[in-house]
Order: sequence, then C-alpha cells, then structure tokens
Amino acid sequence: MKRKKLVAGNWKMNLEIAEAIKLATGVKDARANFKCDVALIPSFVYIAEVKHIIYATGIHLGAQDVSTHENGAYTGEVSATQLKSAGVEYIIIGHSERREHFGENHGVLKQKMEIALKHGLKPIFCCGEPLQVREEGKHKEYVQKQLEESLFNLSAKDFANITIAYEPIWAIGTGLTASAEQAQEMHAFIRGLLVPKHPIALQTRIIYGGSCNAANAKELFACADVDGGLVGGASLKSKDFLAIIEAAG
Ligand code: PEP
Repeated sequence: MKRKKLVAGNWKMNLEIAEAIKLATGVKDARANFKCDVALIPSFVYIAEVKHIIYATGIHLGAQDVSTHENGAYTGEVSATQLKSAGVEYIIIGHSERREHFGENHGVLKQKMEIALKHGLKPIFCCGEPLQVREEGKHKEYVQKQLEESLFNLSAKDFANITIAYEPIWAIGTGLTASAEQAQEMHAFIRGLLVPKHPIALQTRIIYGGSCNAANAKELFACADVDGGLVGGASLKSKDFLAIIEAAG
C-alpha cells in the first residue's frame, strides 16, 4: 500500500491571533487542490480558533506539546485528553527545541508517547542529530538510540498511529537542508530499524524536517522513503506552505 504524504506546518511560538486566522483561512481556501494530508500545528492558544476555521475540511489539526500528566494540579500544562477534546489529532513529541530548551529527555518523551497514544492522539515523533555528530559520521547510531529509547517499547498497534519526523538539528531554522540523498539514506535507515520489529512500520510515515521550502520540497518528497515534511518557518506564509503542499502531490 502506498503511503499518503503528510505535510505538517509547525507554527512554533509565532503569529498573533489575526495572523493565525489569516494563515489558517488561506490554507483552508486552497484545500480543493490538496493531494496529500495537511496538518496545521498552532500554539495551544489558537487551537480552538484554527479548529473552527478548518472544521469539516479534511485539514488536520495538531498541537506542539502534551503533558506527561493525566490531569489535575499542573499549572500551565495541557493534557492529552484536553487536546483530544479540542479536536487535536496530531501531537509533536521530541522536537529538538523541546529537548534542548526544556530538557526533555528520553524518559519524558517515552511518557509523552504513551499518554498521547493512550488517549488517541497521533504522535509525530522527532529525531535527528546535531551537526557535530553528523560531522563525526555517527548520525545513524545517534538516531537509532533516540528511536530505541522512546519508541521500541511501543506495540504494533501504536506503530500504526505514529509518524516519525527525521529532523537533522543542523537543518532546523538554519536555511541548511539535508540533500535528497542524505534524507533518503536516513529515512531508509530508520525504516530498516523499525520494520523488523513491527512489519506495520512499512506503512509508518517518515517525514523530513529542516528548512524544507518551496524550492527544495519537490526533490526531497520524490525520495522513496520521504513521506512528506514537518515544516517550520516556511509554514508561516500560506503561499510558501501551499507550494510545499503542492510539491507533495
Ligand atoms: C521544525 O521546527 O520542525 C522545522 C523543521 O523548522 P524549519 O522548517 O524552520 O527548519
């Protein structure tokens, strides 16, 4: 079965409400042309508004983080059940920015994966190596460890509900992109690790993230194991984001 591509826009901590509405509306208005799955991943505060705009359009909604706790006295946290009840489907887990700035280690990520899956959210699990590791030629071992630590405990059923985002850290927000060859090599490597564990991983989408833009998306998405993109900066302008979606068609 052919994997349907996914293009997900990670808005990060950007945009004010009027800009968020304009962007979501711009994407919604172009949906008739979409040939891949498209997800918008705004800040928590815009989730309800974006949900309202994309309601019943087939555009998917995601969130950028989830609490490790079920519910209760955890000021500032947002739970999996709250997200689910607000119409969220995808959830980013393990983004390098959360690993780096918020100290999220594999124990935390494992818990986030488990709680998200338990409540019917679909994790987009991010992995990827820093520049130094790439330069030392140890990127495969590095990513393998990330996957082993946070994903290898999951069941085959869980694997049916996850997406993996390979995001080399040196390419995130830097304007440097992995070449199509580098991306394909890593995506095939990741799939090769997962399939012997769970054959269903043949259907798991492995998307690429790291300065993906309108100019490089087509070449990246043409790779056999690149099943779409997790897009940061270029998802903030509807024209750019729509060009990337088109490249996935
Ligand atoms: C990201 O944050 O997941 C990302 C890929 O960002 P950018 O596209 O800006 O590199």
